[in-house]
Amino acid sequence: MKPWITAYIGLGSNLHQPLLQVQEAIEELHQHRHLKNLQVSPIYASKPVGPQDQPDFINAVASFETQLGPHDLLDVLQSLEQEHGRIRKRHWGERTLDLDLLTYGHAEIHTPRLTVPHPLLFERSFVLYPFADLAPVFPFNNGLTLNHYLQKVAFDLIPVKKGN
Ligand code: AMP
Repeated sequence: MKPWITAYIGLGSNLHQPLLQVQEAIEELHQHRHLKNLQVSPIYASKPVGPQDQPDFINAVASFETQLGPHDLLDVLQSLEQEHGRIRKRHWGERTLDLDLLTYGHAEIHTPRLTVPHPLLFERSFVLYPFADLAPVFPFNNGLTLNHYLQKVAFDLIPVKKGN
């Protein structure tokens, strides 16, 4: 029997009714047969990083347990992105649905397809704050706490919906 691993993912969208994109993605994660115990942070709006001539983003973080390996989990996330007709016009540009694997248990992964923990986790308010909503004392391998990173990044998000 494979162990159940807790993973955290970031969700983002700024095209084609972004709130609906994120809410539908949450429902699809909820229904997915390889995932259980889904928890979802509050949903936030954030200003785009990179090109400013694009709509604001909707962001959230979700956690669940899975027996899938990290690359199989990435396949699941990428196929959900594809099902949402993901459009990517430019680097850091607009997209219909972006799903990032933030953490996978306490694994450190460096392969051509995967970097985990996801580097954005430590730098971006739209990942850090919803992550903290779900796991305020998440213990990172480097011994630093989420609080350490939160103190470096201002809260610049607009709450849109409460979590579950
Ligand atoms: P982006 O759409 O900008 O998030 O980048 C997607 C690409 O990042 C894909 O080719 C993935 O293989 C790669 N990638 C590397 N690490 C991760 C991760 N932790 N979560 C999601 N995608 C990742």
